[in-house]
Amino acid sequence: MNFEIARKRMVESQIIARGVSDRRVIEAMLKVPRHVFVEEAMAAQAYSDTPLPIGEKQTISQPYMVALMTELLELKGKEKVLEIGTGSGYQAAILAVMADRVYTVERIRPLALRARKALDSLGLLNVNIKMSDGTVGWEDEAPFDAIIVTAGAPDIPQQYIDQLKPGGRLVIPVGTQFEQVLVRVVKQEDGSVEREDITGCRFVKLVGKFGWSSDD
Ligand code: SAH
Repeated sequence: MNFEIARKRMVESQIIARGVSDRRVIEAMLKVPRHVFVEEAMAAQAYSDTPLPIGEKQTISQPYMVALMTELLELKGKEKVLEIGTGSGYQAAILAVMADRVYTVERIRPLALRARKALDSLGLLNVNIKMSDGTVGWEDEAPFDAIIVTAGAPDIPQQYIDQLKPGGRLVIPVGTQFEQVLVRVVKQEDGSVEREDITGCRFVKLVGKFGWSSDD
């Protein structure tokens, strides 16, 4: 299997054809080898139009969802970005090639360790991974230009709004444990927020102090 050809097809048929137009997002999706972030046995499916299991009952998101969420962050290259839910590290890799610095939090240790290895193997050294409950954000590194949450939350934790710079963007799935709405929040210069509902989606649960209380 030629991964480069598979990746190009993925970008054309799943990303561009569905309306993602930010050149920098398209370039990042063409560049980052998604198959590096899934188990070897699943490498052949890495470019298919679907989420895939990554172990620990978690998933790597569908490529289109990664592209859409990233586009909503409006990254130009100089940003400091926070991701909650490192998972495989694929979304973090996309952010790493599009922004200046990436801070990502994962609560499941084996996933954080595997993501670190995959990111290191690609030389993406501008990604910091922390093993902890990301529902409280990353206070020590705040404020951020953009925050992306890749697990479904019951509500928007106030910490995320507090840790955004004025003008900053937050993208987060909000809803029940079974289905959510992808929400974008833009923090205004005066500190107020503007909320926009983007589309329906399905993510694994955001589990923690300001998320769901367990992952049963
Ligand atoms: N962005 C990932 C997709 C991750 S799936 C990727 O590109 O592969 C969601 C991840 O969020 C899971 O790995 C899950 O363990 C993690 N997660 C859930 N609740 C969390 C929390 N409170 N803090 C940090 N990570 C959390």
